[in-house]
Amino acid sequence: MVIYLDNNATTKVDKRVLDAMLPYLEEEYANPSSMYQFSVKSSKAIAQARAQLRDFFGAKSEREVIFTSCGSESANTAIKGVLAANKNKKHIITTKVEHPCVLNLYQTLEKQGYRVDYIGVHADGSLDIEELKEKIDDETALVSVMWANNETGVLFPVEEIGEIIKSKNPETKFFVDAVQASGKIGFNLKDTNIDLLGVSGHKFHAPKGIGALYVKSNVIIPPLIVGGHQERGMRAGTENVPYIVGLGVAAELAKDALNYETTEIKRLRNKLETGILKRVFNSRLNSSISNRVPNTSNIGFEYIEGELILLHLSDLGICASSGSACTSGSLEPSHVLRAMGVPFTSLHGSIRFSLSRFTTEEEIDYTLEKLPQVIEKIVKLSPYQDELEHLRKSKV
Ligand code: PLP
Repeated sequence: MVIYLDNNATTKVDKRVLDAMLPYLEEEYANPSSMYQFSVKSSKAIAQARAQLRDFFGAKSEREVIFTSCGSESANTAIKGVLAANKNKKHIITTKVEHPCVLNLYQTLEKQGYRVDYIGVHADGSLDIEELKEKIDDETALVSVMWANNETGVLFPVEEIGEIIKSKNPETKFFVDAVQASGKIGFNLKDTNIDLLGVSGHKFHAPKGIGALYVKSNVIIPPLIVGGHQERGMRAGTENVPYIVGLGVAAELAKDALNYETTEIKRLRNKLETGILKRVFNSRLNSSISNRVPNTSNIGFEYIEGELILLHLSDLGICASSGSACTSGSLEPSHVLRAMGVPFTSLHGSIRFSLSRFTTEEEIDYTLEKLPQVIEKIVKLSPYQDELEHLRKSKV
């Protein structure tokens, strides 16, 4: 039995996505760039997927959609592309809580002479907009902000940030990492000041290995991967037709499921969250209650180790995570929770639960039944018995 509550790490491929992909893995294997009749179906399938992504993004035109291999490639294409197109500007603004695929790139760029400002967050995970506002100057080539945080689900007000950027410096480009927002909230990019935005299929029920980048029609950047003419010269390499088809269908399904996401998935997430906070005396919520995606809950368990909780949950078939999938496995506490000033007493014992359209009520009930027992077991092993006793008394 697997109870999968780690949907921010990756999601199950939807059967309808798989069914749409299969013909392009079997009989329709033509290279879409070939001249013969056999390739027409492949090239039409890509065109259809591009139109599905246009609708998903709320873009003006399908020419604003580039297929990539993943969220990391989308981010790298956008960031390196903007900087290459603006060689004389050396200032970048980002946040302290970005995903490593962005943060590690900025650290490399700092070594190459770029000045990078990392904007902080408040205790509830929300962005310090005033600080961001102050940092924009004539030298700012790029502002790069995630839409939803992968660890806490907290949403940044990217539409408002876009307006601030353009009012302070209309030449500054704005990249949004929307990998964790996609499928969880709706996009209408044509009405925003977002210049570039990246998504990754495996976060919304397409397979791993396919992503997309939105590039507003008036933004010109060079390709990251140079070679053939594919993607209008914006990304070389023979198109991954089956995966592109899968991404298109996943995008359409995600758009249709938005209502379910904001009602049913949110209801199940809230049931899990309030249930844990009520039943487990040393638990605390690590984020804003309202300003976040509907599927994510990050809960700190004071004076105990998150890894131990995950191992016990894993024995019961329950999959959750501490930190992001990329940082779990390291003993460093989460950079996101540290930036929020989460107290050290729960920094090491914080667990992210993330749901999807496949999460059931029974799974939530089972988790709510088992988790308090797991925590009680681990609490007994903690060296902080006095503090825990004090906490227990203060909660009753
Ligand atoms: N951005 C965020 C916010 C993410 O959560 C992730 C993956 O977890 C990525 C980017 C990278 O996406 P990918 O794994 O598709 O490269």
